[in-house]
Amino acid sequence: MGYRWSSRGEFWGYLATFLHTTLHAPVREPYKDLRAILRDKDYFILTTNQDTQAIKVFPEEKVAQIQGDHRFFQCSQQCTDAVWDATKKIDELYDYLEEHDTIVIPDEMIPRCPHCGAEAFPWVPGYGNFLEGSRYQEQYQKISDDIEKHLHDKHVLFLELGVGRMTPMFIQEPFWALTNNLPGAFDVMVNRNYQFLPAQIEDKGVAIKGDLARVLKDVRAQLGCCTRTFDPHKEKQK
Ligand SMILES: [Zn+2]
Repeated sequence: MGYRWSSRGEFWGYLATFLHTTLHAPVREPYKDLRAILRDKDYFILTTNQDTQAIKVFPEEKVAQIQGDHRFFQCSQQCTDAVWDATKKIDELYDYLEEHDTIVIPDEMIPRCPHCGAEAFPWVPGYGNFLEGSRYQEQYQKISDDIEKHLHDKHVLFLELGVGRMTPMFIQEPFWALTNNLPGAFDVMVNRNYQFLPAQIEDKGVAIKGDLARVLKDVRAQLGCCTRTFDPHKEKQK
C-alpha cells in the first residue's frame, strides 16, 4: 500500500489484484473450524478483518465488519457518506489486466465516485479518510444489539481470536471491560505472540499462546465436530 507507484494506473493494477485475490479466496481452515465449533451456539462475530472471510462462512446478520469491507468503494473526497458496491468493478479491472497481460489500469477505467467524479478507494482505513457513515453505523448497531440481548445471560463467552495488539480498542479492550462488568462472562484470548489478561479479569479468563489454526482444530476435535482425535496427555509429553 505504501509503495511509490509510478502512476495511478499502476497503483490500481496492484489494488485490483489485491482486492480480487481476497474477494475470490476460498474459505480458510480456521474459519471452517470456527463454524463447526459454533454450529449449535448462539454466537456473533465481531471482526476488524476486511477480507470477507467471515461473511463467506457466517450469515451476514451475524457478522459486524467494523473496520471496512473489501466489497465496497468510497469517495476519496468524502462528498457523500455512502459507500458503493466494488465487486463488479474489481472483477472488470482484474479481467482487463489478465486479458491485456499488463499491470497497469488505463486512466479511464480507474474507479471514480458516481456523485462527484473523484477517485474512489476501498472502504478500508489506510487509503485516506475512512468513512464512518451509515454502513459503518449499521455494523456497530449489529454488535451492540447482540450484546444488549445477552447482557443478563447466565454465561457469555468472549473469544479473542488472533486479535493482537495493533488495534486493541476495537475488540480486545471492549471484551475485557464487558468480561469485568458482566457476572457470567468469561474471556478466552488466543494469540500467537501475546499471552496476558488484565489483573481485574484474571479469574474470569484464560490466555492461550499458540497458532490459532491449531487451537481451533483442537477445539473442534475435542467437541467432536470432526473425526480427528486429540489426546492432551500425549500433547503434553511432546
Ligand atoms: Zn464523491
